[in-house]
Amino acid sequence: MTIQLTSVIKSYQMGDTTVHALAGVTLHIAEGEFTAIMGPSGSGKSTLMNILGCLDRPTSGSYVLDGQEVATLGDDELAETRNKRIGFVFQNFNLLPRITAHQNVALPLVYAGVAKAERNERAAKALAMVGLEQRLGHLPNEMSGGQRQRVAIARALVNDPTIIMADEPTGNLDSKSGVEVMEIFNHLNSLGRTIILVTHEPDIAEHARRIIHVRDGLIVRDERKEG
Ligand code: ADP
Ligand code: ADP
Repeated sequence: MTIQLTSVIKSYQMGDTTVHALAGVTLHIAEGEFTAIMGPSGSGKSTLMNILGCLDRPTSGSYVLDGQEVATLGDDELAETRNKRIGFVFQNFNLLPRITAHQNVALPLVYAGVAKAERNERAAKALAMVGLEQRLGHLPNEMSGGQRQRVAIARALVNDPTIIMADEPTGNLDSKSGVEVMEIFNHLNSLGRTIILVTHEPDIAEHARRIIHVRDGLIVRDERKEG
């Protein structure tokens, strides 16, 4: 499941002016990498994540995901690629408030048409992966922010995606919970999953093996850690 962006441009028309949210991005991410994307507000991070996550298509340039050109996929195929291969984690957790942790995690499997017994088993397993096997029946508001984000990670995992993408996953957490969340990503990465996250906190980005710096729609620095 390699990622290859080549000369990707994403433009928005604002009246008479064209905004280049991405101004020509070439980027290769190998399977199993753990990458943080950093950059100031308005630099193009969300646009880049939306394209990497198959939520949006480039205006021009190429995105080849696992050997397949994303630009040629229809909307349904794009949605299928996204649902099967990519798990999403958000800053605000995006949990449904009136159902339990276990039900929140099982929800993508309901949409995928998985039978109830298997849903229950897989949701419990995903919650165990994030250390919440004791919290299956809790509602989101009965849990701490860090626990809620771990529920959201379990939900992202339950379809067994190859890639996990997280947009400011620690943005609403205290620093201790933020580190715990990064340790979970690190663990999932060690099991072979590709992790890509956006953050503007350098201490959080330090947990990744690779840091990509974005400015004005361009990659201006690409650092890899040794070892
Ligand atoms: P970041 O996530 O780094 O804050 P974004 O990717 O959200 O940056 O935005 C990059 C640039 O593209 C900004 O100038 C932003 O205003 C512009 N932009 C993003 N989305 C849209 C949109 N839907 N319509 C118009 N301009 C947009
Ligand atoms: P923001 O940080 O810009 O307020 P989010 O981080 O919640 O927004 O979402 C980022 C993008 O992902 C948005 O384009 C949103 O529509 C999309 N999105 C939100 N929830 C999901 C989901 N469960 N599955 C797929 N895409 C989603």
